[in-house]
Amino acid sequence: MQTLFSEAQLADPHIAEANRILRKCVHCGFCTATCPTYVLLGDELDSPRGRIYMIKDMLENDKPASAKLTKHIDRCLSCLSCMTTCPSGIDYMHLVERARARIEDTFRRPLPERMFREMLARVLPSPTLVRLALIGARLALSLKGYLTGSLRAMMDLAPRSIPAPSPFDRPQVFRARGDRRMRLALMSGCAQQVLRPAINEATVRLLTRHGCEVVVAKGAGCCGALVHHMGRERQSLARARANVAAWQRVAERGGLDAVVINASGCGTTVKDYGVMLAGDRDWAAPAAHIASLTRDVIEVMAELGLREVAPVEAPAMAYHAACSLQHGQRIIEQPKALLRKAGFDVREPAEGHLCCGSAGTYNILQPALAARLRDRKAANLENTDAGAVATGNIGCLVQISQAVELPVVHTVELLDWATGGPRPEGL
Ligand code: SF4
Ligand code: SF4
Repeated sequence: MQTLFSEAQLADPHIAEANRILRKCVHCGFCTATCPTYVLLGDELDSPRGRIYMIKDMLENDKPASAKLTKHIDRCLSCLSCMTTCPSGIDYMHLVERARARIEDTFRRPLPERMFREMLARVLPSPTLVRLALIGARLALSLKGYLTGSLRAMMDLAPRSIPAPSPFDRPQVFRARGDRRMRLALMSGCAQQVLRPAINEATVRLLTRHGCEVVVAKGAGCCGALVHHMGRERQSLARARANVAAWQRVAERGGLDAVVINASGCGTTVKDYGVMLAGDRDWAAPAAHIASLTRDVIEVMAELGLREVAPVEAPAMAYHAACSLQHGQRIIEQPKALLRKAGFDVREPAEGHLCCGSAGTYNILQPALAARLRDRKAANLENTDAGAVATGNIGCLVQISQAVELPVVHTVELLDWATGGPRPEGL
């Protein structure tokens, strides 16, 4: 695609990066076929190509974000299916992030929307506030029938019961069983540890059983993805710096082979810390180092190899590939291969490339579209005739649980179970 940025515009590294990305697009439109919003709405402006044109126009002409552009960028899930499909290898992720940041800086949303987004940006990164919000949601259940839109969607996502905080999520070191093969920092995260503490517990058991020392670092917390996808650059970079500092301290005090992440939405962001902080003289190098050490727990397990697998009596598992894992990190075959090696009968649903509609805060901010994607995903998963669903991302797990009668578990819970851990709850 031809671009017409001036020399002065290209002096801005963000614009120079956008220019490089835009120039790769050859308008072929292959990406439209696998874009969930285009598949649902059939509008070119809700396709990757349409969005790319609008972003180009905004940046090239140095315009503030318009209401029209904001509407269509807000509808984008950042699922990155378009990046998997694009034959030119376009880096849509960084382009849409630039657009979201420009929207945040130049577009004034209506007051109720601004307040709602502000509330989400404050609450979601904090496990304590998420817990309080879920308790509040349970107390306000009787009001649910009167709510619509985003508030109703948020209430629908609240679990029936809220698990107690897990001792595993406190800063500490879990010793390896047997000879130590790796020293890892586990990102204990934010909302996941409140919604399903069993995932971090299963991760620690699985990794220590396979010879890893696991450190939950003091000062590490939310990866910043949720606010990053809302265009709140300052807030997401502050989170990135805090995590980099925490994991650097782990490395200095005993070495660090990998930062391990069991929520693939977070993993995609932490692997990008080097790019996010590239313009920060003090943080660029440490952030790039931490990003280079970051692995999804599935990658770590694939490297370690499964040990002591004991057959378990399990239903057939429909595997849901989280977009952040398959499109964001290109981890496609390893989760299925590990599950099969652990003895599970793994089934793959139709339309596996399409998003379930979770996408960070998408299911709260775009509830109608998210619900259509969720129901489509649920039907495809149920059509496999499996007895349960496995996935590698908490957002997908919560989203899919709303629409299927089957239990939905994290891949790591199954691997833990098959190598000596407890049966995952609900199975
Ligand atoms: S990220 Fe997903 S929703 Fe957004 S344009 Fe690409 S394929 Fe479409
Ligand atoms: S597939 Fe790639 S090159 Fe083709 S229109 Fe989409 S983004 Fe552009």
